[in-house]
Amino acid sequence: MIVKEIQIAAYLFASILFILSLGGLSSQESAKRGVFYGIVGMFIAIIATVLGKEVAGHVYIISAIAVASVIGILLARKVEMTSMPQLVAILHSFVGLAAVLVGFGSYLDPSTQTIIGAEHTIHLVEVYIGIFIGAITFTGSIIAWGKLEGKVRSKPLLYPGRHAVNIILAITCVVMGILFTTATASEGMIYLYIMTAIACFIGIMLVMAIGGADMPVVVSMLNSYSGWAASAAGFMLGNDLLIVTGALVGSSGAILSIIMCKAMNRSFLSVIFGGFGDVAVGTAQAIEGEVTSLDHEAVAGLLKEAKSIVIVPGYGMAVAKAQYPIYEMVQCLRKEGKLVRFAIHPVAGRLPGHMNVLLAEANVPYDIVLEMDEINEDMPDTDVVMVIGANDVVNPGAQDDPSSPIYGMPVIEAWKAQTVIVMKRSMAVGYAGVENPLFYKPNTEMLYGDAKESVEKILGHLKK
Ligand code: NDP
Repeated sequence: MIVKEIQIAAYLFASILFILSLGGLSSQESAKRGVFYGIVGMFIAIIATVLGKEVAGHVYIISAIAVASVIGILLARKVEMTSMPQLVAILHSFVGLAAVLVGFGSYLDPSTQTIIGAEHTIHLVEVYIGIFIGAITFTGSIIAWGKLEGKVRSKPLLYPGRHAVNIILAITCVVMGILFTTATASEGMIYLYIMTAIACFIGIMLVMAIGGADMPVVVSMLNSYSGWAASAAGFMLGNDLLIVTGALVGSSGAILSIIMCKAMNRSFLSVIFGGFGDVAVGTAQAIEGEVTSLDHEAVAGLLKEAKSIVIVPGYGMAVAKAQYPIYEMVQCLRKEGKLVRFAIHPVAGRLPGHMNVLLAEANVPYDIVLEMDEINEDMPDTDVVMVIGANDVVNPGAQDDPSSPIYGMPVIEAWKAQTVIVMKRSMAVGYAGVENPLFYKPNTEMLYGDAKESVEKILGHLKK
């Protein structure tokens, strides 16, 4: 057991570590340090909480932590890098579910029944809001998991009158909230049940209404919601650290969502309300041109002649785990005096920063990894662009086809280079489910096959 003062000091120290952790995660160079701060902060937080005076039943708690840790370690070791977004989504759903359970527990806790007056009302409001946010996060994250896993269709589910239905549901929740806070202890439960069911439904419909291309915003938005749900749980439990940590996650998730919206040129509100306004117009434009392809030797020949090369990685690079041979190829080309750089789209892959993490894993130096905005203006002076497992992020339809679901999203302007080589297995569409006119451009050549195998073969020819 530790005294309250030591617990407060430990909480303060853990909060500082969490802030340092978030700061560290904002750049690639300091990301590892950031993760380390986070781990130490969470360790201190758990110890300080479990040893708190008000906590009883340590045997159960330690057993639960041991079982959960084993499951967590096994899951994290087993999960493929490509499935990381799904794992993150399902973990968010746990935070939501935890907030719901804490809410019900806190309402039923006999010690909270004795509170009276304004304090009682404040407690009930905390319970109500905590369960509301938690339930939306819970079901919304499950649907996001389903969409990322390919178990739920990625097309937006938009039914007529959905905004009216959402408004009616929101009003019903407010009314239930008023009835709940004014009800006697035994009556309140029914309002909580009704609101929880409605919030679960809202969570499902909110994410179902969002189209494939807007999923990055949903993932970061649910991250933010999970933070607010944790914060609400902190209020209910009277735990300052949980309030601070939840607020940190909530606000950083909200900032990330806004950054993702900017990157996709989407209005934040239109994304969270499921496509308000931003609906594609007109019939799909017919794609003109013919698809031509090259073999590995010809691609190696083009690279040998090129002076400036840009590599655009996408989700397919993650699937193929092609980052290692790609970096080997880059080193080989740089030895020949060629300018080789990476162009990273903010929503490439399936997780914010997905490509940066993979390239860092392969030890690619940060100074040759450029953001879309930094590299787009150099495209006309680029000899060869290699699009490796990317699709939506290089789709010119985002700029010139108003009927496209990704119309308005800034993209990497690969087609402006002298030659574009698109490396993927087939003509299949990307996550947003739209055809890509880039493949039909006269300066584009397809190189079919698994990205890793293709890069290894090209490397073989380059070394000859
Ligand atoms: P895309 O999903 O648009 O395209 C990936 C392409 O990779 C596919 O067309 C596929 O074509 C190809 N591919 C798959 N496996 C392999 C392989 N083994 N070897 C070679 N190619 C392969 O990816 P982008 O990165 O271009 O775009 C990301 C998309 O995901 C955007 O629509 C974005 O909005 C969305 N998204 C992003 C999130 C984020 O936070 N970054 C989160 C959720 C969604 P083929 O099958 O023919 O090989």
